[in-house]
Amino acid sequence: MKELIEAAKNEDNLEGLREIHPDLYQQLVEQGFFVKQSDNEIEKVRQRIDDVNYNEEEYYLIINSTMNCNFGCWYCYETHKKNSHISDASLQKIKKFIENTLEKNKKITKYTIQFFGGEPLLDYKKSVLPIMDYAFKKAQQRGIILLLNFTTNGYLISDDMIQDFLKYKVNGFQITLDGNRDEHDKVRFVSKTKGSYDKIVENIKKIVRNKMSVVLRINYTEKNLKELDLVFEDLEDLELEYRSLITFSLNKVWQESNNNLGEKVSTFLSLATNKGFSLPDALLSDRVENSCYADKFNQATINYDGNVYKCNARDFTDENKEGILNDEGVVEWNEKRTFRMEHKLKNKACLECRILPICGRGCSQNMIEHVDKDYCVNDFDEAKKDDIILSMFLSENVEKI
Ligand code: SF4
Ligand code: SF4
Repeated sequence: MKELIEAAKNEDNLEGLREIHPDLYQQLVEQGFFVKQSDNEIEKVRQRIDDVNYNEEEYYLIINSTMNCNFGCWYCYETHKKNSHISDASLQKIKKFIENTLEKNKKITKYTIQFFGGEPLLDYKKSVLPIMDYAFKKAQQRGIILLLNFTTNGYLISDDMIQDFLKYKVNGFQITLDGNRDEHDKVRFVSKTKGSYDKIVENIKKIVRNKMSVVLRINYTEKNLKELDLVFEDLEDLELEYRSLITFSLNKVWQESNNNLGEKVSTFLSLATNKGFSLPDALLSDRVENSCYADKFNQATINYDGNVYKCNARDFTDENKEGILNDEGVVEWNEKRTFRMEHKLKNKACLECRILPICGRGCSQNMIEHVDKDYCVNDFDEAKKDDIILSMFLSENVEKI
């Protein structure tokens, strides 16, 4: 097949391919490999990015209920603030905001609320629970889908909370481990003699046994990768039927300088699949179709203090603020948000890049941090681009191979 395509290309006779292998030709046209000379592909990508990011049927709300945390991990980018809580007045504003977004956007069919922080479960009863309850009732009245997610360290999850999660149909958690028990407990501990690993692992099992899913993020370093397999021993008693509800996601701690850990990571991940756990869908590598929530118009990250952001991977400072939630429950956005949403694809490297239609120039945060600078989220590395294509191809065709 490859030879056929190459011959047609070298002889500049793609029409000849249509005669020899009409099905293949048709597929290549349908999937956009063959395009008309007159087609403006860059414009099509721009249009696709806009279509996805200005989708009016969904809203994505992130709520930082506190910036406080019960742990103090060395790599955490958040600045912990002891007395950071959603006040009663702010709670009312957030409820109004949910109501307003639903009132204003009649096309919304899916509303996602992600609780983030800090550790969102620290203020569970006072702010998280009332917001879940309010949003759940509103979604029921409107007949729309409500997705409730938590990014939590998992330590504070109690049986009572699990009953609430079931009542409000919470669907997902992201919980982090910093390696096996020994490694994790060096980073996340309650006191010098009390770690957190065992309790977190037990809570993960409780969640999936109640049929809710967990993205189990492992923050890895060269050191903690060495005996990471021990994590599987601690999950060994989890019944096979629940294992696929745990998706392993390995992320290198940004301070780790060794860039040659890929093989160890792959070995760990294939062991995970052999044991019945899930891996992130490689189709998510299509960053145009699955753009970050911060790229979307219908999205806000509301901080406990009423300041509003888009990206939640940067500090929640005044400098990064993109709006403020007013007393009427409306976000007054500033020029930063306008710039983020209106700054179009301009980077020269991206305009010439063969994977632009699936990379889309990275996220909006990358783009605004590199205005007038040439950049590539894949380090201009053609091998990395090949890996993205290959993993997408394999995930789409795994059953056919
Ligand atoms: S850095 Fe980019 S991908 Fe990450 S949260 Fe921010 S906008 Fe999204
Ligand atoms: S891989 Fe790099 S150059 Fe290509 S579209 Fe993505 S960011 Fe741009």
